[in-house]
Amino acid sequence: LPEIFVKAMPVLRTLEDAGFEAYFVGGSVRDVLLHRHVHDVDITTSAYPEEVKELFDKSIDTGIKHGTVTVLYGGESYEITTFRTESGYQDFRRPDHVTFVQNLDEDLKRRDFTINALAMDMHGDIVDLFNGIEDLKNHIIRAVGNPEKRFHEDALRMMRAVRFMSQLEFKLEEKTEQAIKDNHELLKKISVERIREEFVKMGLGPFSRQAFQIFLDTQLSEDVPDFAGKKDLLQVYPQLKFSPTMETSLWAVIIILLKVSNENIGKFMRDWKNSNAMTEKVEQIIKMFDLIADHVPTDYELFEAGEDIIINTIDVADILGQPVSSEALVDRYLALPIKTPSELAVDGRFLIKRGMRPGAQLGRTLNQIRKKVVACEIENSEEAIEQYLDDLD
Ligand code: ATP
Ligand code: MG
Repeated sequence: LPEIFVKAMPVLRTLEDAGFEAYFVGGSVRDVLLHRHVHDVDITTSAYPEEVKELFDKSIDTGIKHGTVTVLYGGESYEITTFRTESGYQDFRRPDHVTFVQNLDEDLKRRDFTINALAMDMHGDIVDLFNGIEDLKNHIIRAVGNPEKRFHEDALRMMRAVRFMSQLEFKLEEKTEQAIKDNHELLKKISVERIREEFVKMGLGPFSRQAFQIFLDTQLSEDVPDFAGKKDLLQVYPQLKFSPTMETSLWAVIIILLKVSNENIGKFMRDWKNSNAMTEKVEQIIKMFDLIADHVPTDYELFEAGEDIIINTIDVADILGQPVSSEALVDRYLALPIKTPSELAVDGRFLIKRGMRPGAQLGRTLNQIRKKVVACEIENSEEAIEQYLDDLD
């Protein structure tokens, strides 16, 4: 058993010693059976949140209404959720309330896919009520119970299905796929934030090109922001050279495929509820991408873009199968005498000491010096810059 489970054993033991049932559940059990890296372990228990909190020194009320307490133990944190069912699904979204139950079976029934509905006890014994192990072996994503009903309860599960396809290289079981095709419109009821999370996980999965094809075929793509009616353009995605590995690259590639105009990138990113920081970076990447397509960038253009944006732009070009002479660009950037504005040997204060007044002219002069230094026309030292300014006067 991987170290991460061994470290968590005392948490299960503590719960069991207090007379409760406790299991590892969900993604961690799936991933250990697939010999994949386990990034965190979730625990499910018969103990109520208050009872969990009493057993551990340090805990956080993560989602106490939904039965989840985060316990800090041995330098790690564990999400411990009370066995529960979900009821009162409204508008195909998250349940408005949960009901705690006394047995594991009920809890496993509410889970999305058979491969996610596995539990493992302290001894490594697996509870598998829905043949999840067989589906793991056959690389199949199958809804627990009636897929139609399950997608009506929570339409996000349809996006989760294609997300897991991309991460695991699994296929959709026939009825599960048909239910997505028949019910894709329900996705409109789901908040963009939740859709984005699954979309990004799909996009960054190693098999995103295959999963994206299903995302298109099932028409899920018609029910996410700004994708409706754009199937022809999005159809290029499954033919990309690589799957993106950076979120900025994913968004940039999508924006390029959709031919979103420069003025509309901000709107597109906001429609997807992306952060301003993410939006800004994607805008810079696309600007650099267009620039590279147009001409060989000047040293100053490379300086202005910065290493991060250059590397990201090369990544986007590679994914799109339009490789640029990447080493050349990075090498040229790395050979620049200064790589960021702060590396300039002088600043505004230096110019003021020389008698210049603060204001726009000072900014322009500083810019001019920066350009000359980047172009290797002046050495980046106070003396050389002083000399240059003296000559100007
Ligand atoms: P990851 O490795 O990405 O964390 P995961 O399987 O742990 O994958 P989570 O989103 O962390 O996925 O959810 C944890 C578990 O909770 C799932 O394995 C599944 O059993 C259950 N679950 C999560 N979301 C849903 C949902 N929308 N409907 C039903 N069950 C869900
Ligand atoms: Mg998880």
